[in-house]
Amino acid sequence: MQTLLTPDVRPGRLSASEYATRFADATPRLTQAQAVLEAERCLYCYDAPCATACPTSIDVPSFIKRIADGNLRGSAATIFDTNPLGGRLE
Ligand code: SF4
Repeated sequence: MQTLLTPDVRPGRLSASEYATRFADATPRLTQAQAVLEAERCLYCYDAPCATACPTSIDVPSFIKRIADGNLRGSAATIFDTNPLGGRLE
């Protein structure tokens, strides 16, 4: 039995049709090649204003670098280090 102390934040809770209905207005995901291309645009700024502005202090340049390197699990882990709202790694 699930308790309120362990909220259900795991991914994949909805069926494909439920996702399609509920997120019909969402921008399509990037392909991995598109994500790498976008990640390679990052300048890895020394003072990283993106990280300074982030309310959860995510190390943005680090997770972008991991995307550019094709390390998507490492990128997600970097985000989850400071922000657990993205769900759980399976
Ligand atoms: S994402 Fe952050 S580190 Fe990368 S270029 Fe933009 S401000 Fe700089």
